[in-house]
Amino acid sequence: MTARRPAATILAAMVLAALTMTGCTEFPAPDSPPPSATADIPTPPGAIPQTTVEPVPDAGDCDALTSLRPGQLPTPRRMPARSTMAAIFSRGRLIVGLDIGSNLFSFRDTITGDIKGFDVDIARAIARAVFGDPNQIEFRVLTSGDRIKYLQKGDVDVVVKTMSITCDRRQAVSFSAPYYVAAQRILAQRNSGIADAGDLAGKRVCAARGVTSIGRLQSIVPTAHITTTSTWADCLVMLQQGQVDAVSTDDAILAGLAEQDPWVRVIGPSLGEENYAVGIAKGHDDLVRFVNGVLDDVRTSGQWQQMYNRWLSILGPGSPPIPRYQD
Ligand code: GLU
Repeated sequence: MTARRPAATILAAMVLAALTMTGCTEFPAPDSPPPSATADIPTPPGAIPQTTVEPVPDAGDCDALTSLRPGQLPTPRRMPARSTMAAIFSRGRLIVGLDIGSNLFSFRDTITGDIKGFDVDIARAIARAVFGDPNQIEFRVLTSGDRIKYLQKGDVDVVVKTMSITCDRRQAVSFSAPYYVAAQRILAQRNSGIADAGDLAGKRVCAARGVTSIGRLQSIVPTAHITTTSTWADCLVMLQQGQVDAVSTDDAILAGLAEQDPWVRVIGPSLGEENYAVGIAKGHDDLVRFVNGVLDDVRTSGQWQQMYNRWLSILGPGSPPIPRYQD
């Protein structure tokens, strides 16, 4: 034990010296090159070329943003009999689908082990309204491409995972009113020379499978070569390893990736609007109305702004979308 201590101390000093010499402890100067990637590093498991053309996401044409008018929020223990709400209440926990790799929205705090973020706060507000306790909740981890499948199979009550409302998705599932509006943008290395979507012609771009940015990018830059991965973290890895030139999705997700790597940055103007809502399986209108009541309360009580300030202030000032209802 004692004999090892000097060796450990020397090793620690060497690591510290190496970090200091390479500047790893400092934010890089704007024009410093990113760490070079080795050519034959394998791509993340499940990274595959996008071979089909996806629909352009559109939330406007079918009036997709209109949701069911909230009813009175029933007090816990007085959920209407035989309703979805009564079933959730008697189970004793709300089952929420999300992922744990979306920094800022839903991610695991490596110190405490807790799952945190803006989407998690939305999910906890729903649980609090049902049970009077934000912790009566079970998180089921899913990928972007799994969200609709989990809802349709009844594996989760709600999906709260940066899920954009689109006309196509509304054929398959129901949505609450929007609770956040993001914009599709581009993430690239700081010194890449990429300034906007036009610069992606003929370039390699990564997106998670089953997301809205794929169709929009295909329509704007048909010559871009798109690779899809299971998670956004895999896209960041591919960008860092020089296996793609850019990542494209919502600015809110890209900002969370950019926070993890000072050599990358979010670039260019908005390519299109993304309205996040709570996904709910079809046929559970009482749950849709209940969630809309909770979101109304979150918005008007000032909680939304607190949540925004806590998680998303790096995106600049923000305000909640105003809901549109039908009866
Ligand atoms: N908002 C986009 C979508 O719903 C991307 C979200 C995500 O991958 O989590 O497809």
